[in-house]
Amino acid sequence: MAKIRFQALLEAGSRKPIKVIENIKRSELFGKNVFDESTMRQYLTKDAYKGVMNAIDHGTKIDRKIADQVSSAMKEWALSKGVTHYTHWFQPLTGATAEKHDAFFETIGGGIAIEKFGGNQLVQQEPDASSFPNGGIRNTFEARGYTAWDPTSPAFIYGTTLSIPTIFVAYTGEALDNKTPLLRALQAVDNSATAVCKYFDKNVKKVTSSLGWEQEYFLIDQALAESRPDIILTGRTLLGHSPAKGQQLDDHYFGSIPGRALNFMRDLETECMLLGIPAKTRHNEVAPNQFELAPIFEEANLAVDHNSLLMDLMGKVAARHHFKVLFHEKPFAGVNGSGKHNNWSLSTDSGVNLLSPGKTPMSNLQFLTFFINTIKAVNDNEELLRAVIASASNDHRLGANEAPPAIISVFIGEQLTKVLKELENVTNGKLSPEEKTDLKLNVVGKIPDVLLDNTDRNRTSPFAFTGNKFEFRAVGSSENCAKPMKVLNTIVAKQLKDFKIAVDHLIDTKDLKKDEAIFNVLREYIKQSKKILFEGNGYGEEWAKEAKRRGLSNNKTTPEALKAKVSKKSLALFEEMDVMSKVETEARYEIEIEEYTKRIQIESRVLGDIAGNHVVPTAVRYQNLLIKNVTGLKEIFGKDFEQHAAEQLQLIKRISVHIEGIHAKIDQMINARKKANVLENVEAKAEAYCFKVKPFFDEIRHHCDKLELMIDDELWPLTKYRELLFTR
Ligand code: ADP
Ligand code: MG
Repeated sequence: MAKIRFQALLEAGSRKPIKVIENIKRSELFGKNVFDESTMRQYLTKDAYKGVMNAIDHGTKIDRKIADQVSSAMKEWALSKGVTHYTHWFQPLTGATAEKHDAFFETIGGGIAIEKFGGNQLVQQEPDASSFPNGGIRNTFEARGYTAWDPTSPAFIYGTTLSIPTIFVAYTGEALDNKTPLLRALQAVDNSATAVCKYFDKNVKKVTSSLGWEQEYFLIDQALAESRPDIILTGRTLLGHSPAKGQQLDDHYFGSIPGRALNFMRDLETECMLLGIPAKTRHNEVAPNQFELAPIFEEANLAVDHNSLLMDLMGKVAARHHFKVLFHEKPFAGVNGSGKHNNWSLSTDSGVNLLSPGKTPMSNLQFLTFFINTIKAVNDNEELLRAVIASASNDHRLGANEAPPAIISVFIGEQLTKVLKELENVTNGKLSPEEKTDLKLNVVGKIPDVLLDNTDRNRTSPFAFTGNKFEFRAVGSSENCAKPMKVLNTIVAKQLKDFKIAVDHLIDTKDLKKDEAIFNVLREYIKQSKKILFEGNGYGEEWAKEAKRRGLSNNKTTPEALKAKVSKKSLALFEEMDVMSKVETEARYEIEIEEYTKRIQIESRVLGDIAGNHVVPTAVRYQNLLIKNVTGLKEIFGKDFEQHAAEQLQLIKRISVHIEGIHAKIDQMINARKKANVLENVEAKAEAYCFKVKPFFDEIRHHCDKLELMIDDELWPLTKYRELLFTR
């Protein structure tokens, strides 16, 4: 094996020079391959431009004539850039992106060929979609699905293909993708938030949700990564002993970026610029060979598309640099895993960030309204929020010994905790003039000052307020952000809707002034949301106990966590907010629970294969060497040989113990799998895989990792952690 490892390094060393566009400012590259507003202005007629902009800003329909104009302009633009194909680009429920390329090229008879792209092809396509996960939707209804243009996310050129972001729905209208329900959730939060904004500013017409994700990832030498069947097939290592050095010296985080990784990043960022992905920040993360990329935040739908596109792009650019990029939440035991913080806020069409304190008491009351309603929404839906980020891979972070915990809580910092305490004492009903003045001057008026020194950041919190946004930190690195964004925006939409009803009710029935009514409702919300607020250490045992006392959920595994998605409450919530019908919600649940089972099943097979067919034979070979050695010693030393062969004899015995252990556990694991496989009920099956199959992983790994320490490095068949994590 040593030889192959050496070759791998050589190959990595001989990579071709990378293509970085030098001497051009990034701002000049930005969006060059995007059919964005400025390109549209250049290529579209006034009418067509207006039509698209209206669709983007107000959701109006684009008629056939306009669609024809847009498609022909897109084609002209794309051809001028050497594009040959177009595709509807969508995000099916596999979590990845999907594309089916068609050439512009068409023959029109008489040996003549032309380049064609009509409005029809832009607006709607019917990919043969029967192999995408649908959770039974297409068994129940029509078999076909179609993709439809989402003009709110601009078309872009990816390689030599014009890519048109689309939704993907069944013929009967059910969403078969991640984007459709996200768009509905964004509409819902717009409706509810705009209505609430009107208490403070009559001119607000639209509220948009913004998202700034932070993508963590590992960058591993491609040849080394590909020498590991577990990385290739499961995205993570299923065994491997910790290296002598891991992350204990804290010498990687924010350290100087290794040259080869930096070359990759520069190349990647150039591509990002061209695609309009506003990549801004890059740095080393905590674990060796772990890094992060963060863009400037954008409107949530666009940000989600950009994250999906980035993940695909990263794989391609990494290959150019002979790297493999790992998005798995826990590719290596013993060092940090990867997450994807979702920074989220709401802002108005007049440019006001609703989660940023303002300059006047009134704008601060608006801030507090959105701030407290978000806390209440999380309080009431913590279990659903946990459910939406559940996956086999994220289970290694949440609920394991890793950040953040499976318990959802909200961190707001000391200063805002004080503000909430004061608001909690607001008088029930009408406020006295003195109280109003006091609130204005001392509570609502003071917020901007206090936030300035609110530097306290609790890194253990899964959902933290960080000055002008909430940061949902429990999201996994491989997750499609559409899912957490869908849920977060839906629960906040529902909460704001209820808030408006409550405030209007007080105004109408109790004769309260608008701000009095708002104070009254917020006071009650603060009282009702106490259990979700937590400022302490989220990793401690103490918190798990305290959270239990408070009645917070602590669902450590995916099969347990996912159930909250199909609770009566969640089904009703998604229906009420027009985000997902019961059929759609249930279909997603089924897809995810089955995906969980499949992932554990694959890991179990791969582990059985590596342990049984790679590790055990190697152990036997090494044991045979030892036996030969002992036989030789016996020949030389006669009956005294044992005193010279004590170590070897010990080793021979220990190796046998581990070989036996591996065999026994693989047998038991296979039996557990057989039992699980015959279960008809998808939930029972997932639980069997979780609680009956998966526990063998650690046991088998334990034996393998022990053998790794005993066996001659020359013979060991797998690339080791120190090579995967420290090859730069
Ligand atoms: P960190 O959390 O690593 O300390 P920052 O807090 O500076 O970093 O920002 C992290 C991310 O938050 C960035 O991607 C940034 O674009 C995003 N962000 C900043 N303001 C907002 C906002 N109003 N809405 C959504 N995301 C935001
Ligand atoms: Mg962050």
